[in-house]
Amino acid sequence: MNINDTTLWSRTGFRSLVVPCALLCAATAVLSACGPSPEHIFTYPGGKTKALVLSYDDGPIEDIRLAQLFDQHGLVGTFNLNSGYLGQTRAWPQPDGDSVYQQYLSADSLLTVYARHEIAAHGTYHKNFKEISNAEILEEVKTDAAALERMTGRGVRSLAYPFGSSNAHIAKLVGSQGITSARTVSDTRNVNLPKNLLLWHPTIHDSKCLPYAESYKALQTHELTVLYVWGHAWELKDPVRWKNMQQFCAQIAQQDNIWYVSQGELADYLLRLKNAEITKQGMRNPEGNGNIWIRQGEGARVLEAGEFGNF
Ligand SMILES: [Zn+2]
Repeated sequence: MNINDTTLWSRTGFRSLVVPCALLCAATAVLSACGPSPEHIFTYPGGKTKALVLSYDDGPIEDIRLAQLFDQHGLVGTFNLNSGYLGQTRAWPQPDGDSVYQQYLSADSLLTVYARHEIAAHGTYHKNFKEISNAEILEEVKTDAAALERMTGRGVRSLAYPFGSSNAHIAKLVGSQGITSARTVSDTRNVNLPKNLLLWHPTIHDSKCLPYAESYKALQTHELTVLYVWGHAWELKDPVRWKNMQQFCAQIAQQDNIWYVSQGELADYLLRLKNAEITKQGMRNPEGNGNIWIRQGEGARVLEAGEFGNF
């Protein structure tokens, strides 16, 4: 793929004006009839319109080095863990007949390794959700989230599907367990917001992410976007891949206009925007909704819960 191909980013043009619309169903009912278009209404905190999510699966010991790399650059990761395998070494059979030996972090190291990162679910035993019953899916999600919550004292509200395996039915089941966002492995190669937070297709696997750092930095947009990179820290044992990741992190870090955010925090914010009530005159942020940010002139302003803001 040619990263400089303008179609990559031009796809974010009109479509992402529509995607927030689709997400913000309450708002769009009014917007379709009157008022300003949604791309000029919302921003991320601080007036930003770009966000970076870094999502890593399985909880191998290689997460230690990766989380440290993120920490060095002030980046935020979302780490999706199989609580049933923590502290173990396990062989994973490969299609070619070989086995890959995976060494998992111990439960008592989670709060240290992921001190500045989100801990999320990935199924207790990494079962393929398309190959098990509804009851087993619910069990995989419920027991994983509960175990991780018990081990860390943190709430768990995000998930990555084992093997990326999901569909609309599975997404609904997962959503019924208190999970607010869940990621597949179907790369979109664009930076549009997800249409469905529970079937969140990422931008790109980390093996191909390096060119996206400069392209995303160069992107000028008034629309909300997200560069979503995913992978496995155990793949980064390859020195070339690790070097690329180091380079990607160095390039994408410390940008004033990028929100470095976990999947869960971004999902929370997008769900808050969905609750906003938009009229011809302005916007009301309902009581109990938490802060949202709206564009005002060349800048942006925060709208606290219960507050009304003019455009
Ligand atoms: Zn996995």
